[in-house]
Amino acid sequence: MHEMSIVTSVLDTAHEEAAKHAGARVTKIGLRIGEWSGVDRESLQFCFDSMVASDPNPPVLEIQYLPRQNLCGRCGELFQVKDFDIACPGCGFSPTEPVSGNEMDIAYLELEE
Ligand SMILES: [Zn+2]
Repeated sequence: MHEMSIVTSVLDTAHEEAAKHAGARVTKIGLRIGEWSGVDRESLQFCFDSMVASDPNPPVLEIQYLPRQNLCGRCGELFQVKDFDIACPGCGFSPTEPVSGNEMDIAYLELEE
C-alpha cells in the first residue's frame, strides 16, 4: 500500500528528529499533499492512526492539501486547475505551467521536550 510506505518514512523522519533532542517527543506532524500527488488523504490518515495506535501519546497529523495550480506564461495569472483544463482563465493561453499540486513532503514537525 502506497500510503503505508509514506507514513512509515514520515514516522522514521519524525523519530530521527526527536532522537536529536534528548527526551523530546514529536507532538505534531504537518504534511503537505498535492492534489495530483496520487496520495489519498483518508487512507493516509487511516495508516497513520493504525501505526501510532500503540503509542500512548501519539503525534497529531495535520494534512495541508494543496490544489493543483498553474501559472500562465503570457499574462502571469495563477489559477486553480479544474477538470484537467490547463488553459489560462484570464487570457486563454495554453499550455500553462504547473506550480503546485504534486507535493508530498513534511511541512513541519513539532517537538516537545
Ligand atoms: Zn493568461
